[in-house]
Amino acid sequence: MSSPTVENIVIVGTGCAGLTAAIYTARANLAPLVIEGSLPGGQLTTTSEVENFPGFPEGVDGFQLMDNLRKQAAKFGARFEQAQVQSVDFTVSPRKLICADRTIFAKSVIIATGASPRMTGIPGEKELYGGKGVTTCATCDGAFYRNLEVAVIGGGDSAAEEALFLTRFASKVYLVHRRDALRASKIMADRATSHPKIQPVWDSVPVSVEGIDQGAVNGLKVKNRKTGAGSVLPVKGVFVAIGHVPNTAPFATALDVDENGYFRPIDGSQIRIKVPGVYVAGDCADHVYRQAVTAAGMGCQAAIEAERWLAEHQA
Ligand code: NAP
Repeated sequence: MSSPTVENIVIVGTGCAGLTAAIYTARANLAPLVIEGSLPGGQLTTTSEVENFPGFPEGVDGFQLMDNLRKQAAKFGARFEQAQVQSVDFTVSPRKLICADRTIFAKSVIIATGASPRMTGIPGEKELYGGKGVTTCATCDGAFYRNLEVAVIGGGDSAAEEALFLTRFASKVYLVHRRDALRASKIMADRATSHPKIQPVWDSVPVSVEGIDQGAVNGLKVKNRKTGAGSVLPVKGVFVAIGHVPNTAPFATALDVDENGYFRPIDGSQIRIKVPGVYVAGDCADHVYRQAVTAAGMGCQAAIEAERWLAEHQA
């Protein structure tokens, strides 16, 4: 039996972190194998216009940006394959990535699997997501709601932060929370609840996003859990901020993750973890910044570390 191919470097994920790592490692002549999962291009492909990625004064379409990164990586020799990593064995060298249809062997691995926004699942949310008024990123999309009323769903730090950010643009921000107090840190909760543009909608659960027929958000129907009363908030934008789920499950037994499932880097690094030659990058290891450009920066760091590690180990 012939021995299996051992890749120099396998990058799992094709968001900003994974593709930036692919550009750097491909340009270093390492011919990376890039594994594309169920959302090729990552979260940005679900956004219409990206106005805050450096270098695009007129903004750039999220899908286009990711397509550009992919072409740039391919130009330097990155190879792309579709697969779902189900589990890993990092106790052996080469490292093993076990997929549904095969096992991939790699000297070095960069995990850039991202995080998926948690969604409420109410009617209209999916239909109007991405460019039609339902979004999960105020930093990305807030500027589209200048002088309009919007709603933020959630009661944690993310919801408070998103609501405060939106006050720069929106005429009014409804903060819809299912309890009568925010879970957010006191300072964030105080700031949000005392802001003149933010109106908390306590004890209320979202019921549906209105506007499917028009193809754009036209209201958020909510129900008060204590009184049972229903009402429709007259909003043009709905920001879902009920947390993220990092896509770390296939690796969670091999690597350290925190209580929310995010990878736990070591030594004050953002991208180094306990397994030599294996790195993490982007939103799967970052619940604080979660920006395309910070993910790209982590992808770059991971690529340079992997290059150095491969050179040092003469791999
Ligand atoms: P989180 O703390 O888990 O809060 C999620 C919020 O969404 C909770 O208020 C929860 O309600 C609500 N929620 C969950 N599922 C819901 C549903 N199906 N329908 C309606 N509401 C729902 O998430 P997060 O705010 O994203 O924060 C995650 C972590 O990142 C936290 O540790 C946070 O401190 C940190 N973070 C920090 C900063 C910062 O320091 N600037 C910014 C953002 C995030 P309940 O309260 O009833 O459970």
